[in-house]
Amino acid sequence: MTQDTGTRKAALITGASRGIGRGIALELAALGGYDLAINYASNEDAARETAEACVEAAGEAGHEITAGIVRGDISSGEDRGRLIEYVREGFGRLDLLVNNAGVAPSVRADILEAGEESFDRLIGINLKGPYFLTQLAARYMVEQLGGQPGTPGAMNVVTVSSISAYTASVNRGDYCISKAGLSMHTQLWAARLAEHGIGVYEIQPGIIETDMTARVKERYDTLFAEGLTPLPRWGTPEDVGKAVAAIAAGHFPYSTGMVIDVDGGFRLRRL
Ligand code: NAP
Repeated sequence: MTQDTGTRKAALITGASRGIGRGIALELAALGGYDLAINYASNEDAARETAEACVEAAGEAGHEITAGIVRGDISSGEDRGRLIEYVREGFGRLDLLVNNAGVAPSVRADILEAGEESFDRLIGINLKGPYFLTQLAARYMVEQLGGQPGTPGAMNVVTVSSISAYTASVNRGDYCISKAGLSMHTQLWAARLAEHGIGVYEIQPGIIETDMTARVKERYDTLFAEGLTPLPRWGTPEDVGKAVAAIAAGHFPYSTGMVIDVDGGFRLRRL
């Protein structure tokens, strides 16, 4: 990763080696203007491939960017610190944090049976990780602003929660609770960072075609065919990436705390 970033901004995307995070990174690359820190947990090859694809996507759109990869488990305080250090040393700034990394339970279990181990794992990765990574990122952003409020729309925190934040699935209560917690995380950080001009947003994806949903593909194929969503198709990482890119482009300067549905209309009540 080079030090010379000119006037470009910098974005850190957690869990960007695969799936939705990769889609977000690619859309930010195509948007241009952001150097990218691609975080991953263990899959270095996939992270490297994403970084290369981002530089290529930026080039095709006529932009020059830098994309670096950084390993880190967001449930670990030490690793969260390293992520921010990586951005600070490599880019000298942070303008956009995308809290995307998250996991599903290893085994779906009825909440009458489910154990604490899975609960602790999901809360650690899906909720505690983004909450405290946002704290570190926000401190760094406020430091960059040097006591002045930021230009509205210029510095942002985006968190990827889920329709599971408000949809009860009794075979993965741990996941639902972690995502519901992220909705309060968004409200808290939006309220706290408004005085600094830092925007805070939440994306609630519906059912998106990634490795996470690969093992339940047939079930959802059937549900889509039966009319689960008004738009009768799987969502894509690109769908989510486009929403993040719109925020990163500064198009929502007066909308902090906003929740964006990327769910094919799943939220609509129909009769
Ligand atoms: P995915 O395909 O399983 O990819 C997960 C990504 O997160 C990978 O890049 C993985 O890195 C990384 N990761 C996993 N644990 C991590 C940790 N402890 N620290 C840092 N990175 C970690 O998942 P996805 O479907 O793209 O989901 C991304 C986010 O969207 C999650 O928060 C998920 O809950 C949410 N979401 C997904 C859907 C859906 O239908 N897919 C719907 C709503 C919300 P490695 O490659 O190194 O393993």
